Amino acid sequence: MRLNFNGETVLAIVAHPDDAELLCAGTLARARNDGARVAIAVLCQGDKGQPAEAIADLAAVRRQEMRAAAALLDAQLLLGEQPDSGLVDDLPTRHLVVDLIRTVRPTLVLAHAPNDYHADHRAASSLVEATSWTCASNGWDSRLPPLDAPPAVWWMDTVGMHEFEPGFYVDVSDTMAIKERMLQEHGSQLQRGGDGDFAPLLDLMRQQAGTRGMQCGVAAAECFRPHLSFKRVSAW
Ligand SMILES: [Zn+2]
Repeated sequence: MRLNFNGETVLAIVAHPDDAELLCAGTLARARNDGARVAIAVLCQGDKGQPAEAIADLAAVRRQEMRAAAALLDAQLLLGEQPDSGLVDDLPTRHLVVDLIRTVRPTLVLAHAPNDYHADHRAASSLVEATSWTCASNGWDSRLPPLDAPPAVWWMDTVGMHEFEPGFYVDVSDTMAIKERMLQEHGSQLQRGGDGDFAPLLDLMRQQAGTRGMQCGVAAAECFRPHLSFKRVSAW
């Protein structure tokens, strides 16, 4: 049995510029290879991920890094431009996220797990939970038309795999190379190495994908859990 994304539109909604690379880029690459349209919405600017030697106008640098990474995947890139460590699930931000979803019109949204480590990740998760419903609501005030139906939502693995019970695994052995190349575009973050508040990113990504792969008998995997909620579940 093989999952096939042909005909789908897959949107990853993440908090920070390198989160898609860590948690779902291999799956996005598989989706694209199957013939799906893929997009990445990054809600925060990445303005506080400073290495030891601070980078002037870090948000602009990270915007460029995101564009280069998304281009490798032929993915549409959407930016939420919220401040790092300041993402909240409030009404204005729900309007922003609904408009991002209505711009892409996905059939599947990949989003942070509700219990992931960073407050921005948890806020992004809560925002997706709410807006995956309202994006298809005729009653929601927006300049963009509603989707015909809410997209399916899959929660992504947590960074470091803590307290995440996988629902299923996606084999990304054949798309690890592009996942790594995408992460390597984030030079400002790779400079951070083993900073006290950070981890060497490439090592983290390889170890996590390898461990998830070990759990399901392949070289590398990403794992997800479907959001089992009314109208956000699809049959595959
Ligand atoms: Zn993040």
